[in-house]
Amino acid sequence: MAQEDVFKKIVSHCKEYGFVFPSSEIYDGLGAVYDYGQNGVELKNNIKQYWWKAMTMLHENIVGIDSAIFMHPTIWKASGHVDAFNDPLIDNRDSKKRYRADVLIEDQIAKYDEKIQKEVEKARKRFGDSFDEAKYMETSERVKETKEKRDNLHARYAEAMQGPDLEALKQIILDEEIVDPISGTKNWTDVRQFNLMFATEMGASADASMKVYLRPETAQGIFVNYLNVQKTGRMKIPFGIAQIGKAFRNEIVARQFIFRMREFEQMEMQFFVAPGTELEWFPKWKETRMKWHQALGFGAENYRFHDHEKLAHYANAATDIEFKMPFGFKEVEGIHSRTNFDLSQHEKFSGKSIKYFDPQTNESYTPYVIETSIGVDRMFLSIMCHAFEEEKLENGETRTVLKLPAALAPVKCAVMPLVKKDGLPEKAREIIDQLKFHFNCQYDEKDSIGKRYRRQDAIGTPYCVTVDHDTLTDGKVTLRFRDTMEQERVNISDLNSIIEDKVSIASLLKKLQ
Ligand code: ATP
Repeated sequence: MAQEDVFKKIVSHCKEYGFVFPSSEIYDGLGAVYDYGQNGVELKNNIKQYWWKAMTMLHENIVGIDSAIFMHPTIWKASGHVDAFNDPLIDNRDSKKRYRADVLIEDQIAKYDEKIQKEVEKARKRFGDSFDEAKYMETSERVKETKEKRDNLHARYAEAMQGPDLEALKQIILDEEIVDPISGTKNWTDVRQFNLMFATEMGASADASMKVYLRPETAQGIFVNYLNVQKTGRMKIPFGIAQIGKAFRNEIVARQFIFRMREFEQMEMQFFVAPGTELEWFPKWKETRMKWHQALGFGAENYRFHDHEKLAHYANAATDIEFKMPFGFKEVEGIHSRTNFDLSQHEKFSGKSIKYFDPQTNESYTPYVIETSIGVDRMFLSIMCHAFEEEKLENGETRTVLKLPAALAPVKCAVMPLVKKDGLPEKAREIIDQLKFHFNCQYDEKDSIGKRYRRQDAIGTPYCVTVDHDTLTDGKVTLRFRDTMEQERVNISDLNSIIEDKVSIASLLKKLQ
């Protein structure tokens, strides 16, 4: 099946099973805004818990905060967002659609990469075991020609984005003959800058009101509180501050479901270090974060680092962790060495000293910062994409199953009476009353057992417990495992110890040690 179709299925599965709904759906929705349903919110909360605990419980020197969404507007002047948090946009006059000029060009670069990849794969098949990829890349005329075009385009693009030079961006789009995917034409307007921050008014009277912004990232709330936390928590450098919260960006092109939203949630951690040590910490955080992702068990081949060649003016190293989505490898998390840019800017704009006094050296300095920044919603999407499976069974049937890591699954255990009579429902409720203090359980008595199992498979429930007539006399139930569909007869009194450890966030955290 084409990857596009797989993605469509995932989107409709998210809606059908109460994971994600379009916002304001009965009013025809609101562009790039989504609501999480009864299962979605559980999965999302589990992702957040996994991140929060990995940061604050596994690191003695990381603490959390929860800062407000509204902040003093000068913060956004200091951070550079008022002047420079822009995307270059371009319109197609025929389709009347708006695009990000940089994304159109990046897609074009990706097309060249795909073309090269296809050639390589063809050759691999042709030459079999004796295939030498490096040699082939050096010698194949076709590959060399495409690679040269790709590299030239990349170099022009990187140069145009410095500044950025809007005319140069448009010229690239014209020279590459990039067409609008909808109208198929090259009837483009000029490229313009578009600020992504949402603004609103704070204060009751028109005269006294102040323009404030909905924060486009959570990081600034950490920077402006850094000294409060350092002093009240008696934190010593190196130390980190973690935060989970909503962020808002007026994205020009909202694409790919919850991948790019206008209201989304971030999990950010700023790690404050002594100047000159930041490039030692940067690879450590790269490794720590990659381990966190891979502990979910989706396979190392689905992740990669994408180091930035073009760095923001305040950064001295940056990388993205990309995950293989059905629409290609995409950024899920950014790791940036942000130097002392933000803290210095806030010192300058606020006129207050926010230097750190190092008791060991008796020196004061503005700390440098390593940032790890991950989108909850993108993480959610990557998990959904990987967990969703339409599995062919031996009997020829297909079952739709979400192979979610057990610790992240919305419901951990469904308890089902075989029939709705003879005291079986009461026994099932009794079991739930025991287990519900430890993890999320669901009671289900409707339809055949087979149908009930399928319903739980579709929301990723790792365990199902069936109560039958024998249960009443032998105190045993049938425990069914989602992934293998195997069933085992176990004592009711053992259920908690069998299940709890496997579905706890602690089980994931232990893999990070
Ligand atoms: P992109 O290049 O995709 O716009 P970005 O580099 O601007 O992302 P950052 O500013 O580094 O993203 O934000 C950190 C993380 O926040 C991203 O890795 C992503 O997971 C998440 N994120 C950013 N923008 C959005 C959005 N519009 N919708 C959902 N998640 C987002």
